[in-house]
Amino acid sequence: MQRRKFLKGAALAGAGSIGVAASFPAPAIAQGMPEIKWRMASSFPKSLDTIFGAGEVVAKRVEAATDGKFQIRVFAGGEIVPGLQVLDAVQAGTVECGHTANYYYIGKDPTFAFDTAVPFGLNGRQQNAWMYHGGGRQLMNEFFKDYNCHAIPAGNTGAQMGGWFRKEIKTVQDLNGLKMRIGGFAGQVLTRLGLVPQQIAGGDIYPALEKGTIDAAEWVGPYDDEKLGFNKVAKYYYYPGWWEGGPQLSVMVNLEQWNKLPKAYQNVLEAACAEANVWMVAKYDAQNPAALRKLLSGGTQLRAFPRPVMEAALAAANELYAETAAKNAKFKKVYDSWVKFRDEQVLWWRIAENTFDNFMIAGSQKKKAPAKKG
Ligand code: CA
Repeated sequence: MQRRKFLKGAALAGAGSIGVAASFPAPAIAQGMPEIKWRMASSFPKSLDTIFGAGEVVAKRVEAATDGKFQIRVFAGGEIVPGLQVLDAVQAGTVECGHTANYYYIGKDPTFAFDTAVPFGLNGRQQNAWMYHGGGRQLMNEFFKDYNCHAIPAGNTGAQMGGWFRKEIKTVQDLNGLKMRIGGFAGQVLTRLGLVPQQIAGGDIYPALEKGTIDAAEWVGPYDDEKLGFNKVAKYYYYPGWWEGGPQLSVMVNLEQWNKLPKAYQNVLEAACAEANVWMVAKYDAQNPAALRKLLSGGTQLRAFPRPVMEAALAAANELYAETAAKNAKFKKVYDSWVKFRDEQVLWWRIAENTFDNFMIAGSQKKKAPAKKG
């Protein structure tokens, strides 16, 4: 340690006094690496410091790790590209990269949903397991080639809430005719139960709910939902968001831009995205409890979806997957791998994770209401 400090000091002194910097090699990355400036279109509004912030985490780390040579400027949804058209902009090369939830693009192909979340799918940890070690990244990047993109996981919200409803949902029939902002594939599941789904970007949900254009809306969870003010226009806050057990965001890179990026920069970008993937879920986990407390003290009413509603949705989801797989070979290829992986995960999670979590949760309830002695 001492020796290294001394050598570093000598190198700096030498470079300064003799003026022959070349005889003391500069850090490899700063030497001969090109200056690259990219634009990243985010699907999210700047006000959401966690979901939008994950894109900034990527940009800042890339810039710092390349000594400022590789710069990525992040633009909020709507600044240069509408929030729900980020993929199109990356595919066309309007921007070099984007930060988005790929299930926004299921209108092009439902296979997109696997990159983010599929109803009754994986939780956040399981999503990472499938992506990094279960073949998910390979399968999805093979699929994304048709859209001229390379995808890198870069954020997760953890299990989401089920959203904000003006009226209580007591039976499956209560969903009939309900206009709801809901993300991704879940809309197609709920259509089968009579719900009318709307795909609306994060920044535009509040006005729609306030005006009554929609009756209900889901976004993420307490921390974001409180910031967006949904509690001011709807009273009942449902859980769980069974359509998003662990939705992942991705940095989508235009394939030509990715291929011509120096290997070192590709590695830095991959590492920065992996950091954002951890950073984002950690930030939500840390911030959600206080936000939920604030919502509840402001009059929000928590409600669990009734079991028959969840069961009807699960049956509708399985029906939808079977029908989609029968007519879409790309979907089937990913689904077959994914569903096998999910079922294995569920078996394993019954043992250690579930038992531990349930024990802790039961314990915390006891703390609130101590059992009488004797
Ligand atoms: Ca959501």
